[in-house]
Amino acid sequence: MSAALERHAARRERLATRLREGGGPVALGKETSNLFRDRAGPARRRLDVREFREVLRVDPAAGVIEAEGMASYETLVAACLPQGVMPAVVPQLKTITLGGAVAGVGIEASSHRHGLVHESVLELEVLTGDGRILVCTPHNEHADLFYALPNSYGTLGYALRVAARTAPVKRYVQLEHRAFGRGEDCFAALEAILRAGEADFVDGTVFAPNRMFLTLGRFVDQAPFTSDYRYLDIYYRSIAEKREDFLSAHDFIWRWDTDWFWCSKNLLAQNPLVRRLYGRARLNSRTYTRIMRWNARVGLTHWLDRLQGLHGESVIQDVDVPLSRAAEFLAFFAREIGIWPTWLCPILPQEDAGRFALYPMRREPYVNFGFWDVIRTRKGHEPGHFNRLIETKVSELGGIKSLYSDSYYGREEFERIYGGDTYRALKEKYDPSGAFPELYDKCVLNH
Ligand SMILES: Cc1cc2nc3c(=O)[nH]c(=O)nc-3n(C[C@H](O)[C@H](O)[C@H](O)COP(=O)(O)OP(=O)(O)OC[C@H]3O[C@@H](n4cnc5c(N)ncnc54)[C@H](O)[C@@H]3O)c2cc1C
Repeated sequence: MSAALERHAARRERLATRLREGGGPVALGKETSNLFRDRAGPARRRLDVREFREVLRVDPAAGVIEAEGMASYETLVAACLPQGVMPAVVPQLKTITLGGAVAGVGIEASSHRHGLVHESVLELEVLTGDGRILVCTPHNEHADLFYALPNSYGTLGYALRVAARTAPVKRYVQLEHRAFGRGEDCFAALEAILRAGEADFVDGTVFAPNRMFLTLGRFVDQAPFTSDYRYLDIYYRSIAEKREDFLSAHDFIWRWDTDWFWCSKNLLAQNPLVRRLYGRARLNSRTYTRIMRWNARVGLTHWLDRLQGLHGESVIQDVDVPLSRAAEFLAFFAREIGIWPTWLCPILPQEDAGRFALYPMRREPYVNFGFWDVIRTRKGHEPGHFNRLIETKVSELGGIKSLYSDSYYGREEFERIYGGDTYRALKEKYDPSGAFPELYDKCVLNH
């Protein structure tokens, strides 16, 4: 056993002992989170997992990285790039952890090749609610847990060690931004791009219903120049301004982190003067998340809205819609929601996509729509009015919604979509005393 694996084994035993020693419900104790819902519900004992952040092995020849569950993608990428590889799917925000991305359905512009983060996972070591530590693979006696951990949000067990696939990198990424004026044309072009299969990365940005771009990224060994969007220049704006661009592989991977896609504008970080005050080191998702959490605690935005007689509903969602229905979703979204920009990311679910019980997808291309803002209206609506419209439309189009923020499904509907029967059996098998919350309680009731 390597020294890193020995250190991991010692940490693992300490944690399992702590779980078994105390009674009652537990929750993850970690420093960062990219979860966007405010917690209600009963108090829980925090299980401190912060020390599980070591990269245990990078094996470029085998195309595998093995790391502890709370290792951040920033750490994983830093360990991989010098060896000429990257994790096959790297979510865009640096503080997202490997275990969090598996349990919470991570995605990126390489998902048109590799599927969602959990589809690049080879093995999981899981601490279950009853204090066991189980190695789960697609083929062993714990395959049921392997296929149910994605989208379980820490309600079946915690991934303490993850082995996942890597992909080779080159020094630079050449970007090509293609403009479209209509959703139908954009998604028809996307279908052709996916069929051709020659881009390493594909994503898109919709600035308005009649102004959208697909961005194709290709690894190259040499670049005539490289752009820098880590300080005064802003990546998302460059998409509409340039037809071609070049970034180092590192800067490409983190292109969305500096401005949290475009959401840094809500924190005034796109104002040139304020941007300088933030400074290069603080322009990142870690800073913005801290400010947003502080805001949620003190209720500043809520108070300002009330002062202006406005009702605000947070609409922070990622939804996956079959590519064949994507134009329909965009038309609905433009009519009823209208949050711009909106992020597009194609996904090709892999062969066993249907087996992931809590997040089943068919083997056909999907498009992820990501939109993150508050809708403000003069007239009050039922709580979750806009989110509910989205949930209903996504189901109608045969899609599925991520659960990292607010959800409003009724219990039966939720269980139908997210593998209720399988979940119930697994909960009984791996967490019979309910050390972890129930998925519905956590994701819909915010417990
Ligand atoms: C504004 C916003 C934008 C986002 N954009 C993207 C995006 O572009 N691409 C993308 O891939 N994702 C995105 N996400 C979603 C993100 O990947 C998920 O929320 C992910 O679960 C966060 O991981 P984390 O490591 O920060 O985990 P946390 O936020 O700490 O936890 C998330 C959930 O996973 C559980 N969990 C955490 N670690 C483990 C573990 N080791 N084992 C089991 N369960 C665990 C926790 O209990 C919790 O329920 C976005 C989220 C937000 C809020």
